[in-house]
Amino acid sequence: MSYVKRVLEDLDRRSPGEREFHQAVREVFSTLEPVLNEHPEYQEAAVLERMVEPDRTILFRVTWVDDTGHPRVNRGYRIQHTNTLGPYKGGLRFHPTVNLSILKFLAFEQTFKNALTTLPLGAGKGGSDFDPKGKSDGEVMRFCQSFMTELMRHIGADTDVPAGDIGVGAREIGYLYGQYKRMANEATGILTGKRLGWGGSLIRPEATGFGAVYFAREMLATADKSLEGKECVVSGSGNVAQFTCRKLLELGAKPVTLSDSSGTIYDPEGIDERKLNFVMDLKNIRRGRIQKYAMEFDCEYRQNESPWSVPCFAAFPSATQNEIDADAARQLVHNGCEVVSEGANMPCTPDAVDVFQEAGVLYGPGKAANAGGVAVSGLEMSQNAMRINWTYEEVDARLDQIMRTIHADAREAAERYGDPGNYVLGANAAGFTRVADALIDQGVV
Ligand code: NAP
Repeated sequence: MSYVKRVLEDLDRRSPGEREFHQAVREVFSTLEPVLNEHPEYQEAAVLERMVEPDRTILFRVTWVDDTGHPRVNRGYRIQHTNTLGPYKGGLRFHPTVNLSILKFLAFEQTFKNALTTLPLGAGKGGSDFDPKGKSDGEVMRFCQSFMTELMRHIGADTDVPAGDIGVGAREIGYLYGQYKRMANEATGILTGKRLGWGGSLIRPEATGFGAVYFAREMLATADKSLEGKECVVSGSGNVAQFTCRKLLELGAKPVTLSDSSGTIYDPEGIDERKLNFVMDLKNIRRGRIQKYAMEFDCEYRQNESPWSVPCFAAFPSATQNEIDADAARQLVHNGCEVVSEGANMPCTPDAVDVFQEAGVLYGPGKAANAGGVAVSGLEMSQNAMRINWTYEEVDARLDQIMRTIHADAREAAERYGDPGNYVLGANAAGFTRVADALIDQGVV
């Protein structure tokens, strides 16, 4: 039995039912045969076995009081996956679907993504099944304070630096940060995604979306193509989707869709700057539904549908995991889609990825394409440590450079391991070897 197969079977046995985690591990390890063949030392050092076992899995109760005075109970998590390359680093997700399997998949993915940035970042992920939707600011604050009261025992500027993810934006980061400072009596860069006025970095909110577009630009450049004048479909309407649209507009492309968990808007005239500002106000301030966009700008609203049936040149899945299945992928290919850059984490099912690769679509997997977010989080940590702020242009230039490097490294690794143009293999191999070599250097720990 091959090394990979044995490790995957062990994983099924030891972590039964963790569907998303198994999917993520299988996705990475099944591409690594050529790497493992070239590097027998990885098997000798049990690198795969060590990589699937998080350093630490922390689960805790979060008790808080709602606006009616009733105590409420949620579950909090922090997966400290690996600190091989630096402090644990990865977002917090507040969403009712959050469970151990989803967070373990995200922490595992984060390992390779963070390695690809070339910054000194380990990997982690955390969150809660708490749903901020429909809660008052006071309820969100009390929840965040209770969550941080426990989490603070486990994190630190040189230990573990969480950030935002789904359901955790600047508001939540603010409440979490306030509680940390109150309890620890220290002002250090303990979280990233902070607002600008109190330790945040310029370009951090923009970074994931901007980075996903930069990555698409780089992939297209290899085929002498560009996004200019092209129709693009974007899913989601949160942080990543919003700044994906903004960068697409800057590069002269035409985003035509956005969505949320209730449905999709399709605006064939294009989501321009004015309409995007409406979305930002709707989603970030008024916390409304995307259907309002269709009412405001008189375009089509498709209830309970995702955007993948809309004809496009480029697709930017920016909502959540497994949002493009094989049927949706076939539809995209049929309608002329030539490039897919994943703003979200694991938005394409493995079957969907096969469809894209077989059709010759330029497919940028999330661990490479959406690494811009964590990269600028890394830059926020650097600025905090030095107690200085870089300018917008400086951070954007660094982000752009990091995305170019990730693209070049993934491309080079794909070529080296025998499948040029395969960014899945390339990103997995480049991220994996960086972590594996460091693991071996640091001995059996
Ligand atoms: P966000 O601001 O909370 O927005 C998430 C968006 O996705 C919302 O429009 C949400 O709609 C939609 N969505 C969530 N769950 C959904 C579901 N099950 N079906 C359909 N739509 C759903 O979160 P975000 O920060 O943009 O993150 C989006 C994705 O990017 C996630 O996969 C995240 O892990 C990944 N990512 C984010 C960053 C970052 O810097 N923020 C970095 C790397 C990767 P509703 O409002 O209806 O829920």
